Amino acid sequence: MKSGLPSIWLHLVLMIALPFVAAVGLAAMFSWVAEQWEPILGIVGFLAGGITGMLVARAFVKHKLPARCPMCAGPTMYQDGNPIVYTCKTCGHAETTRIGSEGE
Ligand SMILES: [Zn+2]
Repeated sequence: MKSGLPSIWLHLVLMIALPFVAAVGLAAMFSWVAEQWEPILGIVGFLAGGITGMLVARAFVKHKLPARCPMCAGPTMYQDGNPIVYTCKTCGHAETTRIGSEGE
């Protein structure tokens, strides 16, 4: 627990939860801003904010946020695939998960 990085399962949970939270938050913010400008644009802002929040948060968790390597506690990076694999940048350990990113 020295590195403070999330465990792999927590990282997978964040992968689902964070885009959802970001989408809801940005959708609310964008629709509010758009409505101040022109009420009919509220729905457009809502959709634009939702999609932007979802994509940005997902890309962030995927490419920028490492998980904790179960072998050395170093940063291990998410890799898409079936199944999803986390590859450690420090020791090279590849942790295979039980889930795939392309659906099953
Ligand atoms: Zn490692």
